[in-house]
Amino acid sequence: MKTTVNCVFCAIVAGELPATLVREWADALAILPRTGVGERGDHVLVLPRVHVATAIEDPVVTGMVSTRGAQLAAELGWTDANLIYNV
Ligand SMILES: [Zn+2]
Repeated sequence: MKTTVNCVFCAIVAGELPATLVREWADALAILPRTGVGERGDHVLVLPRVHVATAIEDPVVTGMVSTRGAQLAAELGWTDANLIYNV
């Protein structure tokens, strides 16, 4: 697994920082944000297990994360969802 020492998301994936786990896959995990909008469970972060600086760094990883986000929304029974990426 490629990680970076200064990436908070890699630290969460490695179990070095706490997070509220929603769902876990071999290639990704879904967590609740630490504060704010996720407290109602209606906002979830899907993190790849490999480090990418932004959503355009590795389109294959972005596609996988998109798939996991859509799977999770379906599993949770959400009828409305926004899948948002950061660049
Ligand atoms: Zn990272």
